[in-house]
Amino acid sequence: MAVHAHPDDESSKGAATTARYAAEGVEVLVVTCTGGERGDVLNPSFEVPEGHEFDSVEGRRAVRRLEMADAAAALGVRQTWLGFVDSGLPEGDPLPPLPDGCFALQPLEEASAPLVELVRRFRPHVMTTYDPSGGYPHPDHIKCHEVAYEAYHAAGDASRYVTDGGAEPWTPRKLYYNHGFSMERLRAVHEAMQGAGLESPFGDWIESRAAREIPEREATTRVHAADYFDRRDAALVAHASQIDPEGFFFAVPRDIEADVWPTEEFELADARVPTELPEDDLFAGLREEGR
Ligand SMILES: [Zn+2]
Repeated sequence: MAVHAHPDDESSKGAATTARYAAEGVEVLVVTCTGGERGDVLNPSFEVPEGHEFDSVEGRRAVRRLEMADAAAALGVRQTWLGFVDSGLPEGDPLPPLPDGCFALQPLEEASAPLVELVRRFRPHVMTTYDPSGGYPHPDHIKCHEVAYEAYHAAGDASRYVTDGGAEPWTPRKLYYNHGFSMERLRAVHEAMQGAGLESPFGDWIESRAAREIPEREATTRVHAADYFDRRDAALVAHASQIDPEGFFFAVPRDIEADVWPTEEFELADARVPTELPEDDLFAGLREEGR
């Protein structure tokens, strides 16, 4: 179960890993906390699909549902919505207040209840989400971490989150945080592109991150996923309102990427099965048990 904040996050964080596991016969469910109703158009070539509009919360929700369905099909995974409304990324100084009723403003118990219910029904062995910082300072990403962490810890406790649905408690076995763009990866790809005589898009980014001294979290688990980078790319492109096919995500030639960095990284946050670090499989320790 991969828990994400917005439609498109599942395609940019650990996407090839979900595609790989799905292809290998694992039941993969992407859970999207919000409808992505406050995402701006980030692709200059985007055209609103016929019969739709992108100017209202409802209009955006509908368009992004279409995009999400295509992305899930590209990855070969199932996907469902928690039904919360996107909080938007506040910008300005001072920051504006978050919009009424948005995901990030929900009390923890109310925000977590639908995910607890879903964990009890889907019965995942492994859950993935973001680290406590959100991995990216969007209020929905931080909230996504909080609800996934809560559901991982509470879903197995029958005395908590008692619901009418009557789903039995379920205890997931492992919790991971997605690792996206580590400095190590940025540097390796940057150097490989320069070595190939290409212009790297990462120079400024590396410098600004180095200057801000963002602490690196430790990747415990590297999943070989290069064979599924094409699925990830197809899923990204499916989010046509958000992802520019000429943009940043596609700046690295795919043969260089597969050669220099064929893995996706995760951080093991909790395990209820014995496992040895570093790992190369999110299900390490579970396969041995046959569970
Ligand atoms: Zn997001």
